[in-house]
Amino acid sequence: MTKTSSVAGPRSRRLFAAAKQRIPGGVNSPVRAFNRLGGSPPVIVQGKGAYLTDADGRRYIDYVLSWGPLILGHAHPKVVRAVQQAATKGLSFGASTPSETELATLICKALPGMDQLRLVSSGTEATMSALRLARAATGRDIIVKCDGCYHGHADYLLVAAGSGCATLNQPDSAGVPASFAAHTISVPYNDVAAMERVFRKNRGRIAAIIIEPVAGNMGLILPKAGYLKSLRELCDAHGTLLVFDEVMTGFRTAWGGYQRLCQVQPDLTCLGKVVGGGMPVGAYGGRRDLMAHLAPLGNCYQAGTLSGNPISVAAGLATLKQVAKTNFYPQQAAQLTRLLTGLRDLAAKRNIPIQLAQSGTMWGFFFSEKPVLSLADALQSDTKRWKKFCLALYRNGVYLAPSPFEAAFWSSAHGTAEINQTLQAAALAFDDC
Ligand SMILES: *Cc1c(COP(=O)(O)O)cnc(C)c1O
Repeated sequence: MTKTSSVAGPRSRRLFAAAKQRIPGGVNSPVRAFNRLGGSPPVIVQGKGAYLTDADGRRYIDYVLSWGPLILGHAHPKVVRAVQQAATKGLSFGASTPSETELATLICKALPGMDQLRLVSSGTEATMSALRLARAATGRDIIVKCDGCYHGHADYLLVAAGSGCATLNQPDSAGVPASFAAHTISVPYNDVAAMERVFRKNRGRIAAIIIEPVAGNMGLILPKAGYLKSLRELCDAHGTLLVFDEVMTGFRTAWGGYQRLCQVQPDLTCLGKVVGGGMPVGAYGGRRDLMAHLAPLGNCYQAGTLSGNPISVAAGLATLKQVAKTNFYPQQAAQLTRLLTGLRDLAAKRNIPIQLAQSGTMWGFFFSEKPVLSLADALQSDTKRWKKFCLALYRNGVYLAPSPFEAAFWSSAHGTAEINQTLQAAALAFDDC
């Protein structure tokens, strides 16, 4: 193995070199880049159950799972069959279908307070459209978000969106006019006082708070007890809408979403990832009176050529029908807890300070002495140690996101064998760091 790109084998390296010729940075989404881990990623040729296989024939236990959607693991037979059957009847009609209503009904029944929803094709579209709707419904412009929360790549949401350059009202990305970000305010996660200050200063001007109820785009950070409830009360007191971005947490932390666990009801919810079962799907929905602002009922416009296409809907429906089974979430979460307990013990034996977090089938860790409650805390974690740990895991057949600021996932295809193998790899990796 060469020292610079020990993660990828020779075939992957060759394929990635070709990718870099035609695709900027070799990747179609920047989070896939392995810049922190030597530059060249394993190039994936197959996924099956809990495992990925790369171009060099190396197998990995996958804890990325396409960044969340694959809660049943790769190529689940029921999902694959549903997609194949739907495909024989036509890929897309751009017209009403029975299956889109079936998916909408299933999702609405799972989320108390969601009377109606719109299907779109990505999480980005869901958040962007939900906030347009929030602005239309309130007649206000300002959106408040939290540092380190990612809500897709709409211009005005690329403010303190999970990166280190968290400055008020300043876009994170080149190509976003400052004026586009001027209506976005970002405050620290888990900080009610900061949120209250923003509301005092902008009385009557805030359309919505958008928040990941469990933050999964700066590592995994759980909300403090009572935090989300305080946001609900603040919104109610100021006529502001509360938007939960459950693109990652929806049908991952619990049936429905984290709102069922924390018992705080948002006005609007954004979904994606698991509800598409690996195909491109997003959704946003909420109270009937709010959704009535959307065209053709109202004057808030949002559209999509492939929205609710039968293939994506088939994958989503097949996935949700599996996870709807009684005890799916408690059983999977209990298995994942066994993995995390094992990791905690291995680290403790070596006096390595680690903060592990879990919410349902999501998990994450930071190498840190103190609890991690915000982006600022996350940025103070030991990323050098993370790098050594992560590189060793890859060498030993465990695939994690190539950044210390990403959540990890669990699927029902993972089990005791994968837990044991992961813990063996982790023991070696902890010895290395
Ligand atoms: C992934 C994600 C998005 C964006 O979804 P895409 O389908 O990648 O556009 C938005 N919000 C959250 C919380 C996410 O995790």
